[in-house]
Amino acid sequence: MIVVDDIHKHFGGFRAVDGASLTIREGSITGLIGPNGAGKTTLFNVIAGHLKPTSGRVTMGGEDITGLPPHELFHKGLLRTFQIAHEFHSMTVRENLMMVPGDQTGETLVNAWLKRRQIAREEEALRRKADEVLEFLTISHLADEKAGNLSGGQKKLLELGRTMMVDAKIVFLDEVGAGVNRTLLMTIADAILRLNKERGYTFVVIEHDMDFIGKLCDPVICMAEGKVLAEGTLDEIKANEQVIEAYLGT
Ligand code: ADP
Repeated sequence: MIVVDDIHKHFGGFRAVDGASLTIREGSITGLIGPNGAGKTTLFNVIAGHLKPTSGRVTMGGEDITGLPPHELFHKGLLRTFQIAHEFHSMTVRENLMMVPGDQTGETLVNAWLKRRQIAREEEALRRKADEVLEFLTISHLADEKAGNLSGGQKKLLELGRTMMVDAKIVFLDEVGAGVNRTLLMTIADAILRLNKERGYTFVVIEHDMDFIGKLCDPVICMAEGKVLAEGTLDEIKANEQVIEAYLGT
């Protein structure tokens, strides 16, 4: 689905990504692991259009998408989740979801003024969709809660929910487990699995929690020093000497 071919991303003289190549299979949940500073987030940002690579190529279904801006990738169904921005904290969970399509496709609010009745209908459809998403994620009870009041894990579920408002094809998730309690982490893992199995989402997940990776990811790709070190099942990766030396042994 996605082929990353010899991507370099240099910051000044520093090679954050230094010739990374990998393939993301359609329908997979691919795990990206590696020590801090390995270049995982930078590579994510290159693939998802938030950073232009110094060199190299990214294709999606054979089409060159290198350097396309995030909103164009969004239209192709490629999304990278982000923390809920501070300015959305005072909006409710449902409102945060309802914001997604117009917000990200670049439709202007002027349209809303010009076509009130149509907008009212669209709003109703959006509200229904938001409620379906909340039900799928088992957080319907949080619909009217202000996003700023959510716990870390609940915010992650909301981030995942935002991708469901637009029927994503491939979603890049960065450090889902950071600061999230065990129970909620497994709820998030379950939501990811269901999105994968029931809705056909492909995922690429950066994560340090090996239980989480083990439950979800096949294959697992390990990066170190800007390059792909190894790829395989988690067991294969854990037994790989280079991976042990660069990451697991530390
Ligand atoms: P990882 O996600 O694997 O922890 P990152 O991609 O965040 O690694 O970072 C890789 C390296 O690139 C780090 O040493 C980091 O300090 C550096 N880096 C990331 N972004 C920038 C930037 N905008 N400017 C300079 N250096 C950066």
